[in-house]
Amino acid sequence: MAYDPNNVFARILRGELKSVRAYEDNFAVAFYDNNPRVSVHIIVVPRGPYCSWSDFSMKATDEEIAGFMRAVAIVAERNNLEASGYRLITNHGANSGQEVPHFHMHLLGGQRLGPILDESCPAP
Ligand code: AMP
Repeated sequence: MAYDPNNVFARILRGELKSVRAYEDNFAVAFYDNNPRVSVHIIVVPRGPYCSWSDFSMKATDEEIAGFMRAVAIVAERNNLEASGYRLITNHGANSGQEVPHFHMHLLGGQRLGPILDESCPAP
């Protein structure tokens, strides 16, 4: 899959679309999801042009991967989620329902999160 430079998160990274930023460094930018599903719902994206988890994992440099992973932990810590706990979710491709084709991690917390998948996910 070719990277679409006009996807929503690419436009946020370039400053063309507004977002409420939670954190940024050389490797990652974090901003609040504009349709939060839980009390704290933050999107963390790498700065580089990667479509999804697989693309990022296979093509990003070790430095980019380490920097991104560390940034996610920093964002969690700065939002006081370290002690209370949080969940990370990333969607890859059609079956996951990925909407935005720029790799991103959902950082979810601030309340009890319940089961990983709800009843709307049919049993196999
Ligand atoms: P996914 O289904 O994993 O691709 O998730 C995309 C997420 O991006 C959803 O939770 C959306 O609510 C969120 N989102 C879409 N557009 C924006 C935006 N302009 N600012 C912040 N979050 C957004």
